[in-house]
Amino acid sequence: MIHRFHADCQARLQLELNRLQHSIVQLLQQENHAAEAALALRLQQHPVSSWPDLLTANKPWCIRQQLERLEAVIAALSQIELKLYGVCSDCEAQIEQERLELDAASQRCTQCEERHKKRDEISLLKRS
Ligand SMILES: [Zn+2]
Repeated sequence: MIHRFHADCQARLQLELNRLQHSIVQLLQQENHAAEAALALRLQQHPVSSWPDLLTANKPWCIRQQLERLEAVIAALSQIELKLYGVCSDCEAQIEQERLELDAASQRCTQCEERHKKRDEISLLKRS
């Protein structure tokens, strides 16, 4: 049996997944380019789990944010199915429930997320 809280997160993630699917198709169609329109059609013929692969191969700039979010949501949903949900990807500690309530697709505990952000900032500084 899935933990009650996990079932709530699963329902929220599923809703977000549906919304993302719609907005990705819409954004692609709005682009008014043959390539994007063809991609939108192709996506609709495939299960959403294969969308990240299809989209990463094509990398349409207009949906880069949605694609990132789509990957996180799909990852979280499969973790619920595998009963590995809510485990920090860095230190494997339980991710705080408040964090998952704010964002059901969180992949890191608060501590590791802070560390991760700092690493990003440092690498940005080094690059500039
Ligand atoms: Zn952690």
